[in-house]
Amino acid sequence: MNLSKTSSFSTRAWIELDRKALAGNVRFLRSRLPQGCSLMPAVKADAYGHGAILIARELNRLGVEAFCVACIQEAVLLRENGIVGEILILGYTHPVQFPLIQKYNLIQTAVDYEYAKQLNLYARRQNKKLRVHIGVDTGMHRLGERSENIEKLSAICSLSNLSIDGIFSHLCAADGSTEREKQFTEKQISAFSHVLQKLKTHPFFKNAPPKTHLLSSYGILRYPEFAGDYARVGIALYGVLSTEKDTTLYQTSVSQHVNAHDFILTPVLSLKARVAIVKELYKGESAGYGLAFTAERDMRLAAITIGYADGLPRIAAAHGGSVLLHGRRAPIIGRICMDQTLVDISGIPGVQAGDTAVLIGRSGSESISAGHLAEQSATITNELLSRLGSRLERVWKE
Ligand SMILES: *Cc1c(COP(=O)(O)O)cnc(C)c1O
Repeated sequence: MNLSKTSSFSTRAWIELDRKALAGNVRFLRSRLPQGCSLMPAVKADAYGHGAILIARELNRLGVEAFCVACIQEAVLLRENGIVGEILILGYTHPVQFPLIQKYNLIQTAVDYEYAKQLNLYARRQNKKLRVHIGVDTGMHRLGERSENIEKLSAICSLSNLSIDGIFSHLCAADGSTEREKQFTEKQISAFSHVLQKLKTHPFFKNAPPKTHLLSSYGILRYPEFAGDYARVGIALYGVLSTEKDTTLYQTSVSQHVNAHDFILTPVLSLKARVAIVKELYKGESAGYGLAFTAERDMRLAAITIGYADGLPRIAAAHGGSVLLHGRRAPIIGRICMDQTLVDISGIPGVQAGDTAVLIGRSGSESISAGHLAEQSATITNELLSRLGSRLERVWKE
């Protein structure tokens, strides 16, 4: 069996990462942001399934000096693997884990005033200062102190054992295109700037103005003028938007304004797996669990070594899911199993055990985008990618 060098240890199912695509996306996103605004990539959920350590290391090399993650385990993992720069924990950290914030030089989000007091109390007992960014709720009503509670926000700034290094909010409808969503986003933006305006006079703000940030992927693309000091880019950094439609629309609209080779969001990830076996399936026979597929004529099938435990959604089988083999489309048949998937290769001559099947990415002139597979799986790319399993190997494409 001829295993190419790239995939010499990618024996079953794996993710191939494109370094050039990542660098291109970083360059493009930086070019969209005003001077003085730095990227703070979201590398939570194992960098949206791409592999947080590989991605963050490469981003460090590309000069990225700030990251955000969902939880403290993710932050500690990055530090233990040598990632340098700021690491902001966007979510809740349980008080028993507060010691790790200082130990690993992390930044914790103050999710509201009460929580900020807990952080401060801990820090005071240790005779330390903890670094925080204040979360401001401007309408999403998830984390953050409510934007109209100026007194509480101001009181957070006065907590003497907290170092208020930043303040941020999160837009929850910036990806929307309805009038209602646009108006809501503008309301969030003005609520956030109102908070900044009010806190400006606080002595703490005067002495050491905290970094401000508001935008994630869609915000960067649509409202770059409100960037502040950081842009918390997630999905776009990986070269896709949440839906296939958005990606296509955006590529088309931007390519009209920007130099063709300046612009491009290129997908960083391909998903591949091996053919384990090739066999005949005769007319009238069924294949897979639940007799869900029955052959209407004699055909050939291949078993591919990837399944739902690797993050390939079961539902994709029923919505036209396919894989690429030898540059051709092989429809998924029957039910996707935990570790394997059956595909129809009747129309594709020469398929053998050991061949590479592409689930996301290119093969010859055919391609399957993450957006397309997400659509077939009744979800968005963010969910599809972030659920790609830990069993998959992650390797850089040569
Ligand atoms: C996940 C997350 C981001 C990144 O969002 P994308 O839409 O993927 O760019 C930014 N900010 C917060 C608070 C998040 O939770």
